[in-house]
Amino acid sequence: MEYEGIVIRPPSEAESLILQVTLGCSHNQCTFCPTYKGRRFRIKDPELIEKEIDEVAPYGPFRKVFLADGDALIIPQPKLLSILEYLNKKVSGLRRVGIYGNAKSILRKSVEELKALKERKLGIVYLGVETGDPALLEKIRKGATREQMVEAGRKIKEAGITLSATVLLGLGGLEAGQRHALATATILSDIDPDFASALTLMVVPGTPLHEEMKAGQFQLPSPFELLKELGTIVAHSNFSRCYFTSNHASNYLPIKARMPKDKEAVVKLIQKVVSSEDRSLLRPEFLRGL
Ligand code: SF4
Repeated sequence: MEYEGIVIRPPSEAESLILQVTLGCSHNQCTFCPTYKGRRFRIKDPELIEKEIDEVAPYGPFRKVFLADGDALIIPQPKLLSILEYLNKKVSGLRRVGIYGNAKSILRKSVEELKALKERKLGIVYLGVETGDPALLEKIRKGATREQMVEAGRKIKEAGITLSATVLLGLGGLEAGQRHALATATILSDIDPDFASALTLMVVPGTPLHEEMKAGQFQLPSPFELLKELGTIVAHSNFSRCYFTSNHASNYLPIKARMPKDKEAVVKLIQKVVSSEDRSLLRPEFLRGL
């Protein structure tokens, strides 16, 4: 099995078999995202996908499979159903299939269609929410409004599929950091995902956001300002039951918390680190990465 280009997957899929069923991202317009820039999106031929499953299946059992690349949920329903059916038939020990889905790809499917995917072991969808601020969603060209994002997240949950949502600290720049954080707390509360993670923005050369930064139109907040955003998100979000993390390599302060139980303790910890202004309490820059 051969991978083409950069293959990314959520940290929680580290032990999964990664099956590249699409190449790139059908949206590919988010101003901060360097991953698939310059690559044309396409869905792999079904014969090739089945051939790759045939090749790798004997090395199993594989408990978890992740369908790459960027938003493989965009695959039309009949094709996606056959990929899942083939995986179920060929891969021994299969318990769960994971996939990235953006708001558009989720909203193109009905709850019934999502339930049909769930019956074939699609167990988790990773949704990049990034921010709850409507103006920022437009500015970063996320391709979805706040309302669409909420509807998409809720739809996944209604279908009984686990939802993991990510948000991005720093997107509001210097001026709109707290506005971004407050709006992000409310969108997370409205979606109420099973898993939520806050990543920290890293501005990568070659992205439109990097051009904005070079032109002086965007400035990254300081590490402690970014932590204040994280504190605001945690303090103002209300989850019924969520595993909240900020332990991605891009983050300055790794946090793993069961919400709502750990909320108060996490808010206090963040406040303590912010008021200390002690850089030694943060992940050093050389250890940060995407
Ligand atoms: S939808 Fe995801 S993968 Fe596609 S451009 Fe946006 S952030 Fe990147």
